[in-house]
Amino acid sequence: MDKQQITVTSPLLPPLEEFVPYLQEIWDSKWITNNGSFHKRLEQALSEYLGVPYISLFTNGTLPLITALQALRVTGEVITTPYSFVATTHAIWWNGLTPVFVDVDPQTGNIDPDKIEAAITPRTTAIMPVHVYGNPCDTARIQALADKYGLKVIYDAAHAFGVTVNGKSILNEGDMSTLSFHATKTYTTIEGGALVCHSAEMKQKIDQLKNFGFAGETTVVAPGINSKMDEVRAAFGLLNLKHVDEAIAARRRVAEKYRAALKDVPGIRCMEDIANVKHNYSYFPIFVNAEQYGMTRDELYFKLKEQGILGRRYFYPLISSFSPYRSYESADPLRLPVANRLADTVICLPMHHGLRELEIERVLEMIVGED
Ligand SMILES: *Cc1c(COP(=O)(O)O)cnc(C)c1O
Repeated sequence: MDKQQITVTSPLLPPLEEFVPYLQEIWDSKWITNNGSFHKRLEQALSEYLGVPYISLFTNGTLPLITALQALRVTGEVITTPYSFVATTHAIWWNGLTPVFVDVDPQTGNIDPDKIEAAITPRTTAIMPVHVYGNPCDTARIQALADKYGLKVIYDAAHAFGVTVNGKSILNEGDMSTLSFHATKTYTTIEGGALVCHSAEMKQKIDQLKNFGFAGETTVVAPGINSKMDEVRAAFGLLNLKHVDEAIAARRRVAEKYRAALKDVPGIRCMEDIANVKHNYSYFPIFVNAEQYGMTRDELYFKLKEQGILGRRYFYPLISSFSPYRSYESADPLRLPVANRLADTVICLPMHHGLRELEIERVLEMIVGED
């Protein structure tokens, strides 16, 4: 008997009847893209919701990474983490730069600030860390290193929508932060993303870069890209913003149930909430210690899969293991022992706002075992 599948994620969809009037407004206006009314309203609404003065919408979460490096005129080498989605390193490559991988911290999965300094060379001009699973990086330590060596810092905050530390948005750290609003993320515009910066001048530059470099009707000031968000997705995002708090609260309840049930299972480690951090529960990774648990990560992963429970091995393989990058000196697994261990032991359990009690129980039963 095929049981119903439990997917790792499920998109946050606003109620259709609430969306219809938004669509009607777009149809009436006949303005469907290029900095329309919903685009402006969504930028304003996100600026307020996230507590960031300067935010530019993008058509996905990869192009703001690429554009940030371009806007900051980053050259040479960029220090980054192998424990992320592959887009982080791709963005470095697309700027003709060399990624330099640094190992991560086992508790958070984020780049290990203790190991950054040794990777800095005369060619290093920037650091691109990721707030993995929404866990805030050690931004103070990273900024201190950046200040000491004159480096730019661009945070890939694709997982960190709404995350705050001591009540302040994590997105105000570094020189810039990027967001992804892809369908799999906590907050979505279907496809979409954003770039957060810290001045009106920089926002203007970014807005030019995402619109082919146009600075006016007849002036092009840079080889920009096309990364404009259209009105339909901006409207979808504006409406979803009304529902995202509820979705995060639902995710939090899922996380609490998982944690409570898994805390005494030998060989299963969960990530804990960090004091003074408002988490968004974007993922629920567990790490399997095969010796203690009696089953390897892959054995558990496939056992879950057979039962229709579709976890994901985020982030396996490491970015540094993919063929475009594995020949880099810094990609050597011996230099990245922690990242390799996490990648070899992680499973992200189903985590979304719509998970039902029975589904959570089914997932837990498979991991805890019957007694
Ligand atoms: C999702 C994601 C991206 C890319 O975002 P897209 O919107 O899919 O282009 C970049 N970095 C990380 C860490 C992500 O998880």
